[in-house]
Amino acid sequence: MEVLYSSTRNDGAKVTASQAILKGLADDGGLFVPDHIPALECSMRELTGKSYQEIAYEVMRLFLTDFTQDELKNCIDRAYDSKFDTPIIAPFAEAEGTYYLELFHGATIAFKDMALSILPHLMITAAKKNQAQNEIVILTATSGDTGKAALAGFAGVEGTKIIVFYPKDGVSPIQEKQMVTQKGNNTFVVGIRGNFDDAQTGVKKLFNDQELVKKMADAGLQFSSANSINIGRLVPQVVYYVYAYVKLLEEGKISDGEKINVVVPTGNFGNILAAFYAKNMGVPIGKLVCASNENKVLYDFFVTGTYDRNRQFMLTSSPSMDILISSNLERLIYRIAGNDAKVNAELMKSLSTNGSYEITQQMKEQLADFYGNYADERETAQRIKEMYENTGYILDTHTAVASAVYRKYVQETGDGSATVIASTASPFKFTRNVMKAIDEKYSAMSDFELVDELSKIGNVAVPNAIEEIRTAPILHDTVCDKSEMKAVVESFLGIGS
Ligand SMILES: *Cc1c(COP(=O)(O)O)cnc(C)c1O
Repeated sequence: MEVLYSSTRNDGAKVTASQAILKGLADDGGLFVPDHIPALECSMRELTGKSYQEIAYEVMRLFLTDFTQDELKNCIDRAYDSKFDTPIIAPFAEAEGTYYLELFHGATIAFKDMALSILPHLMITAAKKNQAQNEIVILTATSGDTGKAALAGFAGVEGTKIIVFYPKDGVSPIQEKQMVTQKGNNTFVVGIRGNFDDAQTGVKKLFNDQELVKKMADAGLQFSSANSINIGRLVPQVVYYVYAYVKLLEEGKISDGEKINVVVPTGNFGNILAAFYAKNMGVPIGKLVCASNENKVLYDFFVTGTYDRNRQFMLTSSPSMDILISSNLERLIYRIAGNDAKVNAELMKSLSTNGSYEITQQMKEQLADFYGNYADERETAQRIKEMYENTGYILDTHTAVASAVYRKYVQETGDGSATVIASTASPFKFTRNVMKAIDEKYSAMSDFELVDELSKIGNVAVPNAIEEIRTAPILHDTVCDKSEMKAVVESFLGIGS
């Protein structure tokens, strides 16, 4: 059955999947959502024995209904290839009886690669399908990982340019080095003096700046988004939750129909929303555990029903979760409002004018699938140390937040269901904080000494993504204020006045 997409803020006009991917964000500032969540057409048992690519096809074809079989398979094959350092693509590590689904085996060693290695292919295919003549300009705000994954995905892709804004002092040293050394003459990387929310809000504003959009159109250019507001990011993320369940079943870790819990370290709410979509497609998932760091706006929301971004922004050791406006929550709000765009639009208006909104009791009752909690900096560091000492396995700071929150969940509920924790980054990306958590003595070492030490004590090879940047020259050094973002974009695109 065909799936069409409409904006969370106005569901009058419907577009195809390829049109939604091409546009990124709806004209009214809303996010594209599917008109229904398709059910899987095979049982979990029938999917056992299949490869990641085969399962990706089974899942994605149900959402991207205007892509032909050839188009979609071609995108999948080009995305999930030897860029990943294992043919399994998303392997499990079992530690302390819990399954860590390692989503960091792609080119930039964070889970963003799972979707951003396919997004450029989906977008180019979508452009062809819709006879788009314009060159696509990917405009992206990053809390550190999306930026590099999107740059890696779009660098050198004909018919595209990519501009990435990151918070100058809000990412890890390795994250920054990965971005500013990016090659490709269609890539632009800019640090902004501000935090991730400033970058994200600035980018959304540029998308809706009609004067800029017109100027670009005159120059044969159009924006699209590589952020998780693009439905083309969300759909590929549903795949690995289906895959995870199938693999546990295949290996006899769970039995047919057995419910598993899923724990996700959360920032922009994209990854956990993908798990929610997987559950709604029919994957036997019990609780969706939403783990936050000290920026615990989502925890407060799940407890009180009020989303309130009026608070201090904290810089933590898990920078990719340092977010106060979780964009993808809007897709969930739209759904629990009974797919009512008007109700959702009102709430989002309140968020942008007052910084907060409150959902009704009836909406709150529909959040029973979710459990929210958070881990502070001390608990996160403690978890890394403990895990290392107990098992030798080294968690990155984001995954450690999830692991700490999962413990709180078990303590509170006694729920002993098999559990998958989304392991979102390699510890090599956050070496300084990871090593410091294990032992203070590491504080004195340089970033790359820490890399080598981590490799030694964890008994894991240094990933290519890190080797690559050891000596790479810095190619991007633009820094600007958030008020200058528009001028910077115009200047890069050669359309400045
Ligand atoms: C992006 C990111 C997250 C947060 O994911 P969302 O989909 O934004 O909730 C968590 N951990 C890491 C390492 C990330 O890069």
